[in-house]
Amino acid sequence: MDQHIVAGFGGIYSSYTVHEIKKTVAPEAIKLFFVDLFSDVSDEPLYLNNAQFMSDVASKLEIELVNVDVSKSSEKKLDTILTDNLAAKLSSFAEQITEMYEDLSKVTVHFPATPLCLKGQNRICVESVENEWADTYEVRALFEKLLPQVNVVFSLEGLDEKVNIKEEIQDKWEVELPRSERKRVHIAMFSGGAGSAYVAYYMVQAYGKENCKLFFTNTLWEDEDNLRFMDEVSEYVGLEITEILDGRTPEEVFFDMRYLGNSRLAKCSEELKVRQTLVYLEELRDNEQVEPILYFGIAPHEKHRRDDSHVKRKNNIIEENSADMNIRKAAGIRSFYAHFPLEPIETRFPLIETLREDVDAKGIIQFEWGISLPRMYTAAIEAAEVDGNILAQKLVEKGINGFSHANCGGRCVRGGFQHYATLFAIWPDQYQEQEDMENRFREHFEKNVSILKKDGGPYTLKQYREDMEANGVEKYLFQPDDTIPCVCSFS
Ligand code: SF4
Repeated sequence: MDQHIVAGFGGIYSSYTVHEIKKTVAPEAIKLFFVDLFSDVSDEPLYLNNAQFMSDVASKLEIELVNVDVSKSSEKKLDTILTDNLAAKLSSFAEQITEMYEDLSKVTVHFPATPLCLKGQNRICVESVENEWADTYEVRALFEKLLPQVNVVFSLEGLDEKVNIKEEIQDKWEVELPRSERKRVHIAMFSGGAGSAYVAYYMVQAYGKENCKLFFTNTLWEDEDNLRFMDEVSEYVGLEITEILDGRTPEEVFFDMRYLGNSRLAKCSEELKVRQTLVYLEELRDNEQVEPILYFGIAPHEKHRRDDSHVKRKNNIIEENSADMNIRKAAGIRSFYAHFPLEPIETRFPLIETLREDVDAKGIIQFEWGISLPRMYTAAIEAAEVDGNILAQKLVEKGINGFSHANCGGRCVRGGFQHYATLFAIWPDQYQEQEDMENRFREHFEKNVSILKKDGGPYTLKQYREDMEANGVEKYLFQPDDTIPCVCSFS
């Protein structure tokens, strides 16, 4: 009897290959060989359930499962452009077949491959670990060298594009997909930043709006023009905003925590943004059985940009010890989402890793999309032109057009001296609001605490305002802060 072996790499394509050949071949003539490509070479827990998935599929389709012993790799040097890992494991696979079958001429090996109709499409369905070895011809060439007697085929190549493999496995077979095979949902973290608006656009172009979300955690301190900007971007990109709300303002968080946020510790960000985001993502996983991928609009810092905008960036440049503070911040975000959620969540930074370095998100949004930036980015220009504010004119002359980030209406407790001097110069009423907020906290808890610190001790916004009034604001406007903006500034 002819024998059929399906090469299973833990994904949907090998599973569906078994299903397809079962239409014409008796189950006893089919075996599913699981070749574990990942768990010994990757720390990614993403691959942990692939073995379980293969076992569930075999039992559902009533096919014998054979686990290939990938530790028994051949020492033989293989002439191939495939990775060493893939080549060695294919060689173990070939050896095990040789040991199990006497007449190899009666054996057909079915490799999983992306169906031709899905290649190049941005359908979620094509995201599978079995896409990761894209060069099927090289796989065939190597395997034919290793086992010239067997017949090698790619049985899914002609699959009808209407078949939704993942849905069928989940809903009809009732087999739970492993994380590596779950539907991906691409989520742009968005709070009115120009970079994140551009990244959302890029994400939708790449994956289709049906697979994407625009995610906004509202702190209730947002400037109203940010909300206008977000609505316009949402309409342009074609994605509704998914808004999540804790319901408290940062001030209410400070009171609840009995701790006034400052440049070192901002509980408001943790409570109103990070916690809300994590809860939302876990619910997505539990309720919709999807795997989120988060997108951030962080760009390399201007002064660290290299003049290589004509080439694509490498993937491995997000490093914690980068000279670029923004890249360090991205590394921190990546590490956070790799460790804090119940299971790690993938993070992507297209402006650093994928897109050309010289993307001028602000210019594109204004002049190509026709959307005005949030007024916080241009507040100095407006104050200079409309109100004739002399300090604002000086800021604009020095290239400072507004606030460096657009969150919390200029009242970010992680802002430093320059930030608050700018706020005082351009939006004195907002400065006063923040000064009053600080006072309320100090009086309520009878604590000598403050948002800013000077000489290692408290230095209130009232003191700072009085100093600015006595010495002239200008003295404080042009001394760059060395504080690191919070994660809020990158969404
Ligand atoms: S932007 Fe600043 S004030 Fe607002 S939530 Fe983030 S850390 Fe807190």
